[in-house]
Amino acid sequence: MTRVLVVEDDPQLVRALRINLQARKFEVAEAGDGGSALRLAAAHKPDVIVLDLGLPDMDGIEVIKGVRGWSLVPILVLSARHTSEDKIRALDAGADDYVTKPFSMDELLARLRAATRRQEAPGTARPDKVTLVATDEFTVDLVAKKVLRGERAVRLTPTEWHLLEILTTHPGRLISQSRLLLEVWGPTYRENTNYLRVYMAQLRRKLEADPSHPRYLITEPGMGYRFEP
Ligand code: CA
Repeated sequence: MTRVLVVEDDPQLVRALRINLQARKFEVAEAGDGGSALRLAAAHKPDVIVLDLGLPDMDGIEVIKGVRGWSLVPILVLSARHTSEDKIRALDAGADDYVTKPFSMDELLARLRAATRRQEAPGTARPDKVTLVATDEFTVDLVAKKVLRGERAVRLTPTEWHLLEILTTHPGRLISQSRLLLEVWGPTYRENTNYLRVYMAQLRRKLEADPSHPRYLITEPGMGYRFEP
């Protein structure tokens, strides 16, 4: 049974989440503020944390930083804040994904499944243990570092490959622009989001059936990119 820690101070939302999550066989623990969230995260070792950013005693970002000090548990942020700076701050602090209120329960559950997918099988907690990512359009061999469309090998530049590797090893998860820039280009280039637009467009031309309406390499405007398997 997947254990989820719900950190939220709105009792009605907590109740709705509890009912929906328990109906889907999640074991639910609840915290109404950041202090209890940090205690429960340590005591109960949840498999995933759903975290509201606006908490009565501290900013949810501080909860993310506190948990990330000792745990890689997936954190799905839930917030009424709409600005992309807040979302990016949460992602850069170590959140795995972000849902803006009001949200549909279906969307939240889909994001929860994506966030916990990498933990389903023992020994596969590290995303780099995945060796082959197959879609209807292309196949990525992460060991041989090759991409195939049908029988045909797709030639990628090292930069294109690096981007694709990061995205496909985190299926369904939003990867922030700043994280991609940091990992692929280094700390000097954290503001150069135009690089990402150029290289993602190249990847789509090489991998998507309809590059202007991507099916697999999705842009989250102002935030980052997501590989939808
Ligand atoms: Ca709140």
